[in-house]
Amino acid sequence: MAKKDYYNILGIKKDAKADEIKKAYRRLARKHHPDVNPNDKVSEDKFKEVQEAYDVLSDEKKRKVFDRFGYYADNLDADSPFSSGATSSGPAGGGFDFSGFDFSGTPGQSSGSSFRDIFSDLFSGGGQKAQPEPPRPMPKKGRDIEIPLALSFEEAFTGLTTNITVNRSEQCSRCQGAGDTGGPVVQCPTCKGTGQVMRTGGRLQFSQNCSDCEGTGRRRQPCSLCNGKGVTPKTEQVKIKIPAGVDTGSRVRVPKKGHGGRLGAEPGDLFILTNVGKHPFLTRKGDNVYITVPITVPEAALGTKIEVPTVEGKAALKIPSGTESGQKFRLRERGFPSLRNPSLRGDQFVEVKIALPKVISEETKEALRQFEKLNPENPRKTMGLE
Ligand SMILES: [Zn+2]
Ligand SMILES: [Zn+2]
Repeated sequence: MAKKDYYNILGIKKDAKADEIKKAYRRLARKHHPDVNPNDKVSEDKFKEVQEAYDVLSDEKKRKVFDRFGYYADNLDADSPFSSGATSSGPAGGGFDFSGFDFSGTPGQSSGSSFRDIFSDLFSGGGQKAQPEPPRPMPKKGRDIEIPLALSFEEAFTGLTTNITVNRSEQCSRCQGAGDTGGPVVQCPTCKGTGQVMRTGGRLQFSQNCSDCEGTGRRRQPCSLCNGKGVTPKTEQVKIKIPAGVDTGSRVRVPKKGHGGRLGAEPGDLFILTNVGKHPFLTRKGDNVYITVPITVPEAALGTKIEVPTVEGKAALKIPSGTESGQKFRLRERGFPSLRNPSLRGDQFVEVKIALPKVISEETKEALRQFEKLNPENPRKTMGLE
């Protein structure tokens, strides 16, 4: 193992004072720091060497050992008259293990100075307390967009494929959604450095942490293309498919057509909120359809077959003889398809209402009188009013 001249490594004289050692170390450590020279093996080795030299020379005891023996090892004692073992075994691995080095800075094992002290002001220009780095932007999924869509009763029944215009956004092509391109740290323009922005919720106004700087008031110079938002606006024609069976208030999801994500995260989704129009005769409750149809007295009394409107044309309905007004009939599977299970369909319920015969002539009146004579009835008999 080659003996290293720590004085030479730090570029200082043998009689350098503690503050000269520290100064030289800071200058070299800054120059060769791995953050400044990413993926540079030579600088990394140099950095470790500088580290090692400083570890020894900044510690009075270790420096004494080094001055006496020309190298440092833990088992050597500068004050001992014996140098037993040291010459035969040599320095144990250089006496400095870099792999266990903790950059976050537990106080150094060396008595004089701690690594923490050195590192805290390594990049701050020395002396003053460093300002904390602004928060690093994180990948963030885009927000969802909700768009209302009006469609007719029939369109809700058949489903609909159409194009709609969506004002959405996309990840910024210049900063990939970071909101900055690594420029200098500036006051956050969104909150003017306060870290707080005002929001209105209902009638209340309240302040909230600024999301552009995460409440720190500082950020890197915003990207000039997206103004630091990380996304740029985009108006897009989006093809949407509304399934058969939607109702007012249904939410149809169109994946990834919401606002753009940041730093490679997924875009949000687009939700179509449907609002279904009315039908002149039919009403809908869930997947079932309801209608009220008038029938005449002879139809009700004698029975017949009538046609009733449905959401897809006419359907035949048998009216049995003796049908009462308000009686309900069911047309199976003439309702809406189920959104949850398209193979299922609702029913249509038909309520009949007996229409009063219109008197259109003297003959009509006479016929009604004749009918009353033939069928003497008192429908209020059960009410004790005979
Ligand atoms: Zn940008
Ligand atoms: Zn801010």
